Amino acid sequence: MDEQAHIPRPLIDKLFNLGVMGIEVPEAQGGSEAQFFHAVLAVEALSRVDPSIAVLVDVQNTLVINALLRWGTADLKDRYLPRLARDTVGAYALSEAGSGSDAFALATRAIESGDSLVLNGRKLWITNAHEAGVFIVFATVNPDAGYRGITACVVERGSAGCTVGRKEDKLGIRASSTCELLLEDCRVPRANVLGEIGKGYKVAIETLDEGRIGIGAQMVGLAQGALDHAVRYTKERKQFGKAVADFQAVQFELARAATELEAARLMVYNAARLRDGGTPFVKEAAMCKLFASEMAERVTSLAVNLYGGYGFVKDYPVEKLYRDAKIGQIYEGTSNLQLQTIAKQILG
Ligand SMILES: Cc1cc2nc3c(=O)[nH]c(=O)nc-3n(C[C@H](O)[C@H](O)[C@H](O)COP(=O)(O)OP(=O)(O)OC[C@H]3O[C@@H](n4cnc5c(N)ncnc54)[C@H](O)[C@@H]3O)c2cc1C
Repeated sequence: MDEQAHIPRPLIDKLFNLGVMGIEVPEAQGGSEAQFFHAVLAVEALSRVDPSIAVLVDVQNTLVINALLRWGTADLKDRYLPRLARDTVGAYALSEAGSGSDAFALATRAIESGDSLVLNGRKLWITNAHEAGVFIVFATVNPDAGYRGITACVVERGSAGCTVGRKEDKLGIRASSTCELLLEDCRVPRANVLGEIGKGYKVAIETLDEGRIGIGAQMVGLAQGALDHAVRYTKERKQFGKAVADFQAVQFELARAATELEAARLMVYNAARLRDGGTPFVKEAAMCKLFASEMAERVTSLAVNLYGGYGFVKDYPVEKLYRDAKIGQIYEGTSNLQLQTIAKQILG
């Protein structure tokens, strides 16, 4: 999947059958009616093997379904939650070529026209876009109003004027699709607005605050996968007449990695627990993503080192996990943006 930069549809169907594509969706709407914490656990578990599959599940649950559950009208929930739990992948389209960290400088326009909004613009870097049947799109009804113009709405794949563009050729999480989304006079019913017109910034801020706990979980899972490989390999690989894991220097490196990993995991679980308990969690969410993504880079790098030359080739899984780890410091807010959030929270 990494080589071909593709997730086969039968595997996605298995994720739906497992119930991990609609974790918080009520049972009455076909979901698993579990909690956000369970979504975090699913993302962590899947990331041990493949962080690309995990991010597909992560975006579906922590961003798309989460936004619908929190901001959708009863009608929007009835129309979309059963589909998202059953067979439809969702995507979350905020970023553009000119607006990443400064997300609310987005240029995609939404013009109010009778019972519709008419969208024009280009979204970039949209995870799941290749597979998605629905998109949560952020556009502005009034560029002069700054963030107060931002509006979120649900756009169907196949709507006239909505086209998925080219797939990015990436360093890591290669199987996960990342595409452009082109909107040209794309008419969306006003009933598809999430929250209120001009209040989309709240949808974005609040879902991304939660979403980054999921990215923390992705980083914890992939680091655990890499550490498991490293432990197994160093116990098997013999040099100087004994297993590499018998050298105390190697044992200490593994022990330090396991300790950092445990710290990151507890930070992620704590943020998820606070979120489910309705307690403030923004600082903890930013901290867990910042720490877990930096930890994942260190732990996967160590795993590559401990495989020696075999760590540098594609015959073994650790070089892939090392490449996959890098994205954790970039998406859903770069590390600098997490630091900015943490600083704001502690300085008041
Ligand atoms: C694989 C992948 C998947 C993605 N999936 C999605 C998705 O599904 N939906 C979506 O909407 N977006 C998605 N993104 C976009 C992602 O969220 C952005 O790339 C990210 O927020 C950074 O924005 P940028 O790329 O424009 O970088 P920039 O904002 O241009 O940042 C460049 C550098 O400047 C630094 N910087 C910027 N502002 C500041 C500041 N104020 N203080 C200090 N440093 C600063 C940053 O930390 C970074 O190091 C994805 C990106 C990738 C690569």
